[in-house]
Amino acid sequence: MPDYEPVVGMECHAELLTKSKMFCGCKNEFGGEPNTRCCPVCLGMPGSLPVMNKTAVEHVMRTALALNCTVAPVAKFDRKNYYYPDLPKGYQISEYDFPIGVGGWLDIEVNGEIKRISIRRVHLEEDTGKLFHALGNDSYVDYNRSGVPLMEIVTEFPPDIHSADEGAAYLKKLRAILTFIGVCDGKMEEGSLRCEPNVSVREIGSETFGTKTEIKNLNSFKAVQKGIDFEVARQVGCIERGERIAQETRGWNDAKQETFSQRSKEVEQEYRYFPEPDLVPLSIDEAWIANIRETLPELPDARRARFVTEYNLPVYDATLLTDTRALADYFEVSAKASTDPKVVANWTMGDLTRLLNADGKDISACPISAQNLARMVDLISDGTISGKTAKSLIEEMYVTGDAPDPIIEEKGWKTVKDTGALKAIVLEVFAKNENIVADIKEKGLVQKRGFLVGQVMKVSGGKFDPKDVNAAIDEQLN
Ligand SMILES: [Zn+2]
Repeated sequence: MPDYEPVVGMECHAELLTKSKMFCGCKNEFGGEPNTRCCPVCLGMPGSLPVMNKTAVEHVMRTALALNCTVAPVAKFDRKNYYYPDLPKGYQISEYDFPIGVGGWLDIEVNGEIKRISIRRVHLEEDTGKLFHALGNDSYVDYNRSGVPLMEIVTEFPPDIHSADEGAAYLKKLRAILTFIGVCDGKMEEGSLRCEPNVSVREIGSETFGTKTEIKNLNSFKAVQKGIDFEVARQVGCIERGERIAQETRGWNDAKQETFSQRSKEVEQEYRYFPEPDLVPLSIDEAWIANIRETLPELPDARRARFVTEYNLPVYDATLLTDTRALADYFEVSAKASTDPKVVANWTMGDLTRLLNADGKDISACPISAQNLARMVDLISDGTISGKTAKSLIEEMYVTGDAPDPIIEEKGWKTVKDTGALKAIVLEVFAKNENIVADIKEKGLVQKRGFLVGQVMKVSGGKFDPKDVNAAIDEQLN
C-alpha cells in the first residue's frame, strides 16, 4: 500500500465587528428576534441601493496587513449569482478578481516546528440569512444575519497544509490574530468565525492533485481536526478500493464524527460573476494604508515572545495565554499587579480556565477581576493562605465575584501562626510514621521528606503556611 499525503486548503469566513451591516444601517449583532434587524437593502428589495461600510473595509485592510498581505490599490465588488432562500437578492456582493488583500502568510507551530502558511487572498463580502428546518415540512428563514459584513481568508494554492494538526494550528493562529486586531470576536460556536477546509489526498511523490472535497459547518477546532482526519481516511479508503472520489461539498455530523455528502460542488462559472453596478471600485491610497497600519496592535507572536522575556514564562504558557486578545490582556493586567507572574499564569491556565469552561463562559465575562486574581496569588506568596486553601478561595471568588480578603476573613481561612500547635501536629505525624523518619535520618532517603510535609498539611487541614510546615519538619529532623 502506498503512502498518502493529505493536501488541505483553508477557506475561513469571519463576521466583522462593526456597528452596522455591510451595505445598510441595520444593526450588526448576533441573535435577536428573527427578522427584526432588516431593511429593504438587506432584504434585497428591488430599487434599494447599497452603501459601503467604511469600517468593514478598514477591518479587511487591517487583517490583510496583519497577515503580511499586499493591500491592493484598487478593489472591486462583484455579484456572485446563485439562488437560495437565505439569499434574498439572488446574488451575494463579493470581490471576485480584485480583492483587498493578496499574497500574505502566517506562521504556525506544530510539534515544535515553525511552518509558514501562504495566504492567497483576503476579501470582503456579505453574509446570508439563516434557514431553520423545523420538524415536518416547515422551514423558516431569519434575515437578521443577511448583509452582515463577512471577510473571507483563503490559503494559497498549492496548499502548505498537509495534516489535520496543521489545519487546526492554522485556524488557531488566524483566530488569535483576528481577535488581537479586533476585527472579529472569533466565536466559532456562534458562527462568527467559520472554516471550510478542502481536502484531497495523493500518493507521496505524486505531482498531480487528487479530487478535493469541501467540509462545511465545522464550528470548533476539534471538529476541524476530526473532520480533516475523517476525510483523509475516507478518501484513502476510496482509492484503495478503486472507487472514484466525487468533487462535492460534505457536511460534518458531530454526533457521529463523520462527514456526509451534501451536494456536488458548484464550479466557478456557474456563479456568473460580473461587476456590481451599484458600487464604484474602491481606490486605496498609500496614506490610507499607512493610517491603518498605525492602528495595528502587538500581534500574537510578538506578544508571546514578550511574555517569555518580560514575565519569565515557559513558551508553552506564553502560547496558551496568547490564544485570544482577551486572555492575553487579562493575564497581563493580573501579572503586572502581582509579585509572581508565573503563579498568576498557573492559576489562569489551571483553575480559572476550568471554572470558565464548566460555566461556558469566555475570559471576557470572567467574574474574577484580573486584580483580584493577582491579590489572591500574592496572599499565597506571603503565606497568608496556603495553596490548598486558595483552591477553595478561587471557587468562592468565582461564585461571588468578591475580592479575596473579605472572603478569607469571613471563612477564617488565614494560615495559623501557632508554632506550638504546628509542632504538636509534626510530632504526631512523626510518631505515626517512624519508619519513614528513620529512613530519612539514618539512610539519608531525603526524597521521603515530601510525604511528611503532605501528612502535616493534611492533618492540619492546610491551615499552616507551607514555609512554616517545612521549617517545623526540618527542626525535628535535624
Ligand atoms: Zn438592512
